[in-house]
Amino acid sequence: MSDSRPLLVRDRRFRDHVSRGPHPECPERLDAIDRALAPLADGFRDFEPRSASDEEILRAHSRAHLDGLRALEGCDALIDPDTYSSPRSLEVARLAAGGLLAASLEVARGAAASAFAAVRPPGHHAERERAMGFCLLNHVAIAAHALRDDAGLARIAIVDWDVHHGNGTQQLFYEDPNTLYLSTHQYPFYPGTGAADESGRGKGVGGTVNLPLPAGAGDAEYGQVFDELIVPVLLEFRPDLLLVSAGFDAHEREPLASMNLTTGAYRLFAGRLRAVAEETCSGRLVIALEGGYDLEALGAGVAEVVRVLAAPEVPRGDFPPPSPVGRQIVRNLADAHAGNWASLRSGGHG
Ligand SMILES: [Zn+2]
Repeated sequence: MSDSRPLLVRDRRFRDHVSRGPHPECPERLDAIDRALAPLADGFRDFEPRSASDEEILRAHSRAHLDGLRALEGCDALIDPDTYSSPRSLEVARLAAGGLLAASLEVARGAAASAFAAVRPPGHHAERERAMGFCLLNHVAIAAHALRDDAGLARIAIVDWDVHHGNGTQQLFYEDPNTLYLSTHQYPFYPGTGAADESGRGKGVGGTVNLPLPAGAGDAEYGQVFDELIVPVLLEFRPDLLLVSAGFDAHEREPLASMNLTTGAYRLFAGRLRAVAEETCSGRLVIALEGGYDLEALGAGVAEVVRVLAAPEVPRGDFPPPSPVGRQIVRNLADAHAGNWASLRSGGHG
């Protein structure tokens, strides 16, 4: 009998990336996740990560970037004011990228329906040539390349619901029409990118969909963005597998940002994306941890998402009704992207 339970990528070694002083991106984040997942232990299968090889990393990053991280091995270093590297950080980042990649390949070949990767450090700010924003390697980008090159999948969609824009992921696929990058994030905010008019270049025009939201947005505004923008674009794109950069830092408890999501919103996000995956790509859905720095909100949010992956049926539920402000924001975003996406052209988002 096949085992339909989701894979859970986790490993003690993800705690070996450590800052010298206090830092929000800390190993205790994983302790909080483990505690929150303990009651669900029968619902998933633990999946042991492996390290990403140089070859796998170099599909997304430059040789100079990898050599730069290698030069820091064995040392404590501050790469920029936010981003640290500790003696074993490259090893940990390789394990995060490789674990996500290997679990993605399992899902691609049908050995599991879905996966959640509880990895750190996060990855979506890492660009081809540089680490930044707590991120060393861009795990989701490395996994997307492997899905294309090693699993033969043609079309990958990446949804990024971290409160920060994934500048690295955007950069890495900015000219690629077959890797859709869709992000909703607080804006203006760190890292500065992610305006609605950043929509791709050359053949990749339309393959980047930025959905910036003002500080203070909550379940109603995000709900409208999911139901009226993200889901229609994904259904129009029809991916072969859906990857998610899942940050939990748009939560109302989050110390580093100013959004107002409740924990229940993450259940609805995961439910909407699982439904899209089932409609377009046999349910293939792989979710990677990015940010989220309030430990309680992080653990609870991850548990909601894993519960959705583990449920026999897609859990349904409605977001709160749209607010007047949300209606206007979503109308403007739909107009901004309607030139590239037919699904956003016909009314219905008023
Ligand atoms: Zn973030």
